Amino acid sequence: MSRNQTIRILATLALAGTSAFAGTGAAVAVTPAEPAPAENLQADIATAQAATNTYWATHWNEFFDGSYTPPTVVGLYDGTNPATAPVCGGQPLGPGNAYYCPEGDYVAWDAGLMTNGYQSGDAWPYLVVAHEWGHAIQNRLPQSLITPAPELQADCLAGAALFGAAADGTLVFEDGDQQELVAALSALADQTPWTKSGDHGDALERVNAFSSGRQGGVEACLPQEQ
Ligand SMILES: [Zn+2]
Repeated sequence: MSRNQTIRILATLALAGTSAFAGTGAAVAVTPAEPAPAENLQADIATAQAATNTYWATHWNEFFDGSYTPPTVVGLYDGTNPATAPVCGGQPLGPGNAYYCPEGDYVAWDAGLMTNGYQSGDAWPYLVVAHEWGHAIQNRLPQSLITPAPELQADCLAGAALFGAAADGTLVFEDGDQQELVAALSALADQTPWTKSGDHGDALERVNAFSSGRQGGVEACLPQEQ
């Protein structure tokens, strides 16, 4: 199947409300005949949002009390323009970052962060979306269910949601996607200014946290009973 056919099918799936996880695992040369990468990125972001939200809406009551309410999706913003960037805590959201803002209960991602990360693979927007959504989930939980390392817990919840969605069939992984996810997590560790610096783990910790969620699901992300 050609790249173009793949993209058309994925776009159709996204429009139909199901989701697909596009990815080749390898850099694809962009030719004039290809859809613009920005178009693919927007489709992947939309798919990531839909798959993550559907996962939590479907499975919330398997783990938690009450009913699930989704965060507001502010989505892409231009962090280089404080005049138009969303505001959180009285400050415009900055460039090169992604956020869950508790006071507005919304998630948002800087266009520069997404565009730059997307060049390293289309797994990027899935990780960013599912991780920030993980913070929204944390904000809905009692403090007793938050682990001492909330950033790693968000990575774990991202793994649980993305692979849970794959198990549900609402997200389809292609060859190379799982390796891309690991590579993206490694790239995001440490010095990468994705959310607040200083409270993310190193590459290995982040990959391990994500893998815990992938393999053990949501329960593996919660404080373990002694
Ligand atoms: Zn975070």
